[in-house]
Amino acid sequence: MKLIFKKKSYSFKLSTKVENSKTTYLTKLGWIIKLSSNDKKIGFGEVSPLQEQDFKKCAKQLNMIPENVEVFNLSEQINIFHPCIQSAINSALAEINGKIIFKENYYFDEIDKTAILLNSENVISELNEIKKTRSNIGKSLTIKWKVALKNNNEEEANLEEILSQIGNNIKLRIDANGSWGRKIANRWADILKDNKNIDWLEQPLCVDDIEGLKELNKKIPIALDESLLKFPNLIDEWKGWQIRRPSQENNPVKLLRELENKKALISISSSFETGIGKRWLYHLSSLQLQGPTPKVPGLAMNKFPNSFLFLNEAQKIWDQL
Ligand SMILES: [Mg+2]
Repeated sequence: MKLIFKKKSYSFKLSTKVENSKTTYLTKLGWIIKLSSNDKKIGFGEVSPLQEQDFKKCAKQLNMIPENVEVFNLSEQINIFHPCIQSAINSALAEINGKIIFKENYYFDEIDKTAILLNSENVISELNEIKKTRSNIGKSLTIKWKVALKNNNEEEANLEEILSQIGNNIKLRIDANGSWGRKIANRWADILKDNKNIDWLEQPLCVDDIEGLKELNKKIPIALDESLLKFPNLIDEWKGWQIRRPSQENNPVKLLRELENKKALISISSSFETGIGKRWLYHLSSLQLQGPTPKVPGLAMNKFPNSFLFLNEAQKIWDQL
């Protein structure tokens, strides 16, 4: 099958900066790609690198893809490319081949349908704000807190305050982005291990400390995130929760199949994609919610600006970019 490959770059500012223990995100850069087949089928994909060095690598490699290309040659060529490029091309091919058929609506716009990412600078006042605006609704909420940004004493004091303030209807996810050592991780695991509010501790130890992560997972649910990206084999081996980011994996069709086959303990997470990548996030998240261990996805919905880039029609985004 002959294909025409086209790409367009995008850039947008998050509504507020997002900090984790390793990086601060404010401006997001990436590309939307479009593949058209000779029988007039179209597939879109998004190249959504998170770090500057990955962005540079993707820029160079995207320029190596010719505009007119055979599907076999394209699939061969991208095997050595950055996972974000592989993800975009494989997503677009899956759309052309009918391996994924998006719905018109997915209903993740309401705030309690996704996890709310707290601003790490002032978690307590933000939590109070959320409680105030949501108090008479009584629905359950999930909040996500990025830790290992301040000193541990201060964060443990914040934890105590948070735990004293959340009732049964607020679930908590705590993400250290790989920055704790075993000692601190174990302290937090001991504090939280019998707590009913905690969904999981996310990537508490560095990506390489798989033994330490396995030990912790015996005490409290541990969700792997960055470790899965560095060691994709863990996707088939890790027995606990997995944070899965379709735009960062070589082929999101694998994730699609896992969810279609009702694999448990998967949670879908955003890498600040536009409406193009969001179609996958929504589709996979809705499958996740129909699976054996439903959990709201982490889509950082409160961080996106108002822009055509987040429309739910891929062709309109492409045309306006
Ligand atoms: Mg994470």
